Amino acid sequence: MSADAGVKKGFMSWYFQSNLLIRILIGLVLGAVVGIALGAADPALAKGFSNNARFFGDLFIRLLKMIMVPVVFFSLVGGAASIAPSHLGRVGVKILAFYLITSAVAVLIGLILANFIQPGLNFNVAGDPAAQVTVRTAPSLGAVILAIIPTNPVESLAKGDVLPIIFFSICFGVAISLVKDATNAKTAQAAEVLFETFTAAADTMYKIVAGVMQYAPVGVFVLIAIVFAEQGSKAIGPLLLVTLTVYIGLTIHLVVCYGGCLGVFGLGLGAFLRKATQPMITAFVTRSSSGTLPITLRATEERMGAPRSIASFSLPLGATINMDGTAIYLGVCAMFIGYATNAPLTLAQQAIVVVTATLASIGTAGVPGAGAIMLLMVMESIGMEVQAGTAIAAAYAMILGIDALLDMGRTSLNVTGDMVGTVIIAKQEKTLDQAVWDAK
Ligand code: ASP
Repeated sequence: MSADAGVKKGFMSWYFQSNLLIRILIGLVLGAVVGIALGAADPALAKGFSNNARFFGDLFIRLLKMIMVPVVFFSLVGGAASIAPSHLGRVGVKILAFYLITSAVAVLIGLILANFIQPGLNFNVAGDPAAQVTVRTAPSLGAVILAIIPTNPVESLAKGDVLPIIFFSICFGVAISLVKDATNAKTAQAAEVLFETFTAAADTMYKIVAGVMQYAPVGVFVLIAIVFAEQGSKAIGPLLLVTLTVYIGLTIHLVVCYGGCLGVFGLGLGAFLRKATQPMITAFVTRSSSGTLPITLRATEERMGAPRSIASFSLPLGATINMDGTAIYLGVCAMFIGYATNAPLTLAQQAIVVVTATLASIGTAGVPGAGAIMLLMVMESIGMEVQAGTAIAAAYAMILGIDALLDMGRTSLNVTGDMVGTVIIAKQEKTLDQAVWDAK
């Protein structure tokens, strides 16, 4: 690890000089073991642990969030400035098509699996007057498109709204590349300096990302221990089947859909996964695609060899609109609610779910728990509105009870899908740095 290289011998050198990925994996496994043990031993003890340890997990999440906006902004302006506008348009269309098609396939996988496994069958969930649910309605298409254009880019940067930031950064980057070709030599030279400044700023941010990752093993340990201490036992009971169905779906999508796409372009799934481990684990524990973005960007550029001109655009976009894991989750959970309330979804309803879950996954924000809110909309689209006191609300509440566990897996796949799309488009555009990909 390059970040380890400059570390002098000190009392922590054993830590910094050991392999970072192995340290993160140890944090992951130890966290799960400690969390499950605490949860099984004594719920009060588990609660106390969560309250006290949360600080160390929040520290990791805040460090990631701190660099998210600067990384996206600097690398996207630099990336857009280094690519011809027409090329950017072509790449944009391809990546959007990839995101859309794989999301629809993901819902289908979720539905087919749930038809086989039938999670929730014979549950006979009854209404629970205590269940409180508020349904959100989908915004209109016009409103969605208008919201992408910031009225004040500084405000979008301050709020961390990714789509408006993407829009403004592309405008800024494309304008820099046009000014670089200006007839006035002085202006052209100044634009060149501006371009190099943004590129250097992005590289500087990646240095910070590398530093933050040194804390990842501790953050991973704490975050995972808290989730398992609080939720582990809940998923083992009646909800085991729905958890399993979601995770089997995620695995099938990873191996068949992503493995197949990579294979078509001569790229191996094994090599991909080795390079993708850090972002996948970070997404798993933070449950946020947006929060993981700095790590995803760095891994895709530095370990997989995707050019900044593509990755800086496709990854922030993917973290906002491409949620294959969420799509699978929506399909499976819609089916679960149907089975659990003795109203299995008809084929017609399932066909509607394919459309609405694909759209809902696009509208899902890359933050923890966002997919569960979208499930309300999917249910409403098939005439099974989640209303407080009904059996549907009770079944929904069961899912919410284990949402963190499901969110971990789906977020990890969400982030993986963005990286797969980026790498294969780069390969297809002949801009993937094969030497970097081939390196260990
Ligand atoms: N947590 C997911 C993500 O950030 C979204 C979801 O809740 O499905 O990708």
